[in-house]
Amino acid sequence: MKTIIEPFRIKCVEPIRMSTREYRERVLREAGFNVFQLRADDVIIDLLTDSGTGAMSSEQWAGIMRGDESYAGASSFYRFQSRIQELTGFRHVLPTHQGRASERILFELVGGAGKIVPNNAHFDTTRANIEHSGAVAVDLPIPEARDPKNRHPFKGNMDVSALEALIREVGRERIPLVMVTVTNNSGGGQPVSLENLRAVRAVCDRHRLPFFLDACRFAENAYLIKRREPGMQNRDVRDIVREMFDLSDGATISAKKDGLVNIGGLLLFRDEALFQRAGNLLILTEGFVTYGGLAGRDLEAMAQGFEEVVHEDYLAYRIRSVEYLGEKLLSVGIPIVEPPGGHAIYIDAAAFCPHIALENFPGQAVVCGLYRTAGIRAVEIGSVMFGSGDARSHHHGLPIPGKRLELVRLAIPRRVYTQSHIDYVVEAATDLYQHRGELRGLRIISAPPVLRHFTARFEELSSAPIRINDFGSAI
Ligand SMILES: *Cc1c(COP(=O)(O)O)cnc(C)c1O
Repeated sequence: MKTIIEPFRIKCVEPIRMSTREYRERVLREAGFNVFQLRADDVIIDLLTDSGTGAMSSEQWAGIMRGDESYAGASSFYRFQSRIQELTGFRHVLPTHQGRASERILFELVGGAGKIVPNNAHFDTTRANIEHSGAVAVDLPIPEARDPKNRHPFKGNMDVSALEALIREVGRERIPLVMVTVTNNSGGGQPVSLENLRAVRAVCDRHRLPFFLDACRFAENAYLIKRREPGMQNRDVRDIVREMFDLSDGATISAKKDGLVNIGGLLLFRDEALFQRAGNLLILTEGFVTYGGLAGRDLEAMAQGFEEVVHEDYLAYRIRSVEYLGEKLLSVGIPIVEPPGGHAIYIDAAAFCPHIALENFPGQAVVCGLYRTAGIRAVEIGSVMFGSGDARSHHHGLPIPGKRLELVRLAIPRRVYTQSHIDYVVEAATDLYQHRGELRGLRIISAPPVLRHFTARFEELSSAPIRINDFGSAI
């Protein structure tokens, strides 16, 4: 059959509260034009993030009942541990409450002033944790990643020669580890090829540097390898996953993505001594090593989630539904990062509304437009998220190639929305694009020093008339 259907039936439904455009206009204003400040009830289709927003399966809910809540040595921990060991090949497994907790522990151990941590592109919390330790986070994407129209199949790849150059320039002693993010979230949800992972591994071996994965979306990355990398079509996804982990010395993972759970994280190590030290830090802030800031039931849900995520019918549906949204937007002329990646479609906001100067946040303007038009919540990944008053991360004289893209991410929660929800998003985005001249730039009126996108407040630049459209009156 040609149609790839959702490979599940719906057992439990959660009503969506509809709203009028007038209502959304008011709450958006009250939220300081920052959709992180909206109440979720005021959102019709929530594409803010694919993190922790997925639907669990009946088997995962069954695991919730089975959860062993013993403080130490719970059977749920052992089920979780053996599942992760079998999937990744890592012997040393620590549970954490989410990805950033893993990052905080890792960089407290290996970061610090004078250190430099390269990545294909650091995710915002990774960068924040590295900088919090006093170290510098450097992005080394391949040049193709900077061109949204370039259809390179592995735009998540790290620029291996730039990595070599960085090591030569700053010296291997200053680099505690090399990190690669799969898939590359900040760079458009683009996958990293096995060939690239092997090349990074070879550089690390030559310079005796540890190699860590930020493996939040390891399964989507592995499936895209199967689909796009020559010679990989007949390999089992589990086998590709295993090779990805085998190439690395450790990993930080947010289980809120490919773990198919609403909360949870992991920290994986090959090195016994580092694992012991991380365990001591885990106890300090997360909890004992057999629960790490989670309930026993959460460990059960993770154990099952990490099993379901490598099912190929699930991955075929997952990757296809993201690709479907991307193809529909492209067909009406909306500029997106091509080709579609694993978990989201990224609108090229600078090309979407070229009349808005970068310092007036075109990405944020598109986000506000999508919410007003149809109650869709997206997220800006551009000058709001990555700009800051702090110049350390951007102007320290290290080779950071190119400028950042100004993107709006439509992240697709796992197993939550159906094709008609996605069609509604296409219709809204098309309407907004046809009236893009009415979008207005913004100015920040207040912002915290780090991770400002969560709490910054904005005002709109001029007062163009408010347009009432079909979505506003129909709803
Ligand atoms: C989500 C994410 C993180 C952080 O994980 P949390 O669970 O949100 O703390 C780190 N890296 C990447 C690539 C992510 O997508």
